Amino acid sequence: MRFTILTLFPEMIEQGLSVSILGRAREKGFISFDVRNIRDYTTERHGHVDDAPYGGGAGMLMQADPILRCYRAVTEERGRAPRVVYVTPQGKQFTQADAKMFAEEEELLILCGHYEGVDERALQLLSAEPYSIGDYVLTGGELPAMVMVDAISRMAPGVLSNQESGEIESFEGNLLEYPQYTRPEVYEGLRVPSVLLSGDHKKVAQWRREQALLRTRERRPDLFSKVELTKADCKFLREQAAKEAEKNEDRPLYF
Ligand code: SAM
Repeated sequence: MRFTILTLFPEMIEQGLSVSILGRAREKGFISFDVRNIRDYTTERHGHVDDAPYGGGAGMLMQADPILRCYRAVTEERGRAPRVVYVTPQGKQFTQADAKMFAEEEELLILCGHYEGVDERALQLLSAEPYSIGDYVLTGGELPAMVMVDAISRMAPGVLSNQESGEIESFEGNLLEYPQYTRPEVYEGLRVPSVLLSGDHKKVAQWRREQALLRTRERRPDLFSKVELTKADCKFLREQAAKEAEKNEDRPLYF
């Protein structure tokens, strides 16, 4: 899969995407990056790519023309128009489901905004799909683009050495992942739950499912309400509720 990224700060992207799992996947050719500096496409004498917003207001806006020139150079080289995403706090919240969906594309072009954002006409002309990485405002789109590229790449074929590790983890079936442990068996007095040492795969799987249910219910009730509960899940949760009620009854009352 190829990621084409349009940015004013290509060095930020290049550095962030050249190490660890993505660096390896890039070397092996499972993913590739074409990072373009929008400034290379301006026709303005002094290399400017931004200007003040019409109607007034603070800050500067990225102008449409250098972005469109950059985009058209890409599409002419490719002979086709890739799907375009504009990273913006005004976008749809990017999720794991989106990462999987984008991983099926051959190419994705991501436009990074900067300063106060981008002239709306550029977004219109690119038919850019707006995506946000969360309800906060960053200084530029480079980090959000890297976040999206990382999450999408993990879902692209060949990138993870063991494809399973991308399938059984948080957000699968709207559940957060269960707690995990590695050596040693006891650390500062804390023991690894005995079921994980039992060698009984069925019991381990059941314990993990139950822990994932409890963790999701506690930390992300919004996700938990979407989990498709099995009969065994319901039985476990009923038993758990009974245990919790019992514990509360034993608690002394203070007035
Ligand atoms: N004035 C814009 C607004 O209020 O929506 C914010 C501009 S922000 C300072 C500069 C750029 O950072 C944006 O154009 C966008 O590309 C990027 N950005 C900032 N926060 C983001 C977020 N939460 N998700 C995705 N992109 C973001």
